[in-house]
Amino acid sequence: MSQASALMWFRRDLRSSDNAAFSQALRSGATVYCVFVFDHSILASLPADDKRLVFIHDAISELQATLREAGGELIIRRGDPQHEIPALAASLGCDTVYANRDYEPYARQRDAGIADALAANGSRLQLYKDTVIFEQDQLLTGQGKPYTVFTPYMKRWRLAMHPALAGDVSTALQGALAAPAQASVLPSLTELGFATASLAGLRVQTGRSGALALLDDFTRRMPHYKTLRDFPASKGVSYLSAHLRFGTLSVREAVRAALQQPSEGAECWLNELIWREFYQQLLWHFPEVCTQSFKPEYRDLVFSGDEQWFQAWCEGRTGYPLVDAAMRQLNYSGYMHNRLRMVAASFLVKDLLIDWRRGADYFAAKLLDFDLAANNGGWQWAASTGCDAQPYFRIFNPVTQSQKFDSKGQFIRRYVPELAALDDKAIHAPWLAKTLPAGFRLGHDYPQPIVDHGEQRTAALALFARG
Ligand code: FAD
Repeated sequence: MSQASALMWFRRDLRSSDNAAFSQALRSGATVYCVFVFDHSILASLPADDKRLVFIHDAISELQATLREAGGELIIRRGDPQHEIPALAASLGCDTVYANRDYEPYARQRDAGIADALAANGSRLQLYKDTVIFEQDQLLTGQGKPYTVFTPYMKRWRLAMHPALAGDVSTALQGALAAPAQASVLPSLTELGFATASLAGLRVQTGRSGALALLDDFTRRMPHYKTLRDFPASKGVSYLSAHLRFGTLSVREAVRAALQQPSEGAECWLNELIWREFYQQLLWHFPEVCTQSFKPEYRDLVFSGDEQWFQAWCEGRTGYPLVDAAMRQLNYSGYMHNRLRMVAASFLVKDLLIDWRRGADYFAAKLLDFDLAANNGGWQWAASTGCDAQPYFRIFNPVTQSQKFDSKGQFIRRYVPELAALDDKAIHAPWLAKTLPAGFRLGHDYPQPIVDHGEQRTAALALFARG
């Protein structure tokens, strides 16, 4: 009797170790083929210089090399997964397709279609929990409802957590992998229709090797996370978000690293990983948050912000130095520090009176770590429209945020070089400075503030109070 075959479909889990679905496939006794599909409908929506493609390409290239070393192959397909996966499974004689669960609405719909198509051929799609520690209905309130407030969710998460849930699920690859007769060629970025710009110049460490190097580096810095995490000029955070997004690092590896350290920093970092899961479960239970405010009373707010203000915000020329530095960091690197995401988002909604969804879309287009659940959660938090959000009357002052979190203006000077010569006081609000450097002309070398924070704050309070 010939040995059964299975197909492992990699999606947002671009690693061969500590991967739940892959481990199950390897343990099933079947010979395992592996595939990655460049989804045409996703690629078609991205600009040619999208940095994420470079990140994904690097990760796939490394994964393919690892699988080949173990006697396997990463088959590459381009097209619609709803067609490609059932067709490949049929041609290889695979009765089971293994993959890790994805909680985004598009993925849920896609996977349901593929499960049906496979079933029609007598095969099946097996999905596993991998990107989170707790999923779907695993953590519910005493009334059996989804959590909509973070603190009780976090407490329940910590109570239910035990180390086995973050255990390493790696399984040996040798002997279990199958390779088709013909090697699969990974198309170049140019062949895929994208620019070949490297992320190395931005010092982004890519692939599984990049994830492990970053985790190693951060593990040593983790004790200081709580004290440094809010200061964008310091190297205080992990920079692991894109790796968690694309699965070059498993969430279990991240949680293990936190649990292994008895430090305040580790406790605080674990909380951020729990925020990540909080938003994942929120998206699963309330997919409608993708397009509308979680809080019904804010669904019909009429935002009156000027289109030119939106353009100035996108380009980092609002005249508010910290906001501009944040936006220029995003545009340049595809990353923005968490403190700055909060400041920039609050500024767009409550100073410029522009719909949070436009800001969320802009972040979605630019962030290397763009994740629908976290981005939507972050924006609805900052806009006060989310379930456990910043109260609408708490409005960040972009100047005091700057004085507090970038007191010496180091971060501003890095991304807004035209302000480099301003002193540590003037740099936060050049229009208030008594003296400016000789030759520096406000309104010419750097914009005057496009709005008055005090006036806009009053307008925002009135808008939300009308709600
Ligand atoms: P660290 O501080 O080292 O945190 C570790 C990990 O925890 C992160 O990598 C991330 O996976 C998770 N995490 C941390 N903070 C949050 C949070 N508030 N919500 C959810 N997860 C969190 N994060 C994304 O991964 N993708 C996004 O698209 C995204 N958009 C955001 C938009 C706004 C408006 C805001 C306010 C926050 C957003 N965040 C997003 C959350 C957070 O800003 C980033 O996860 C963090 O800055 C990434 O840097 P890091 O890996 O160094 O984080």
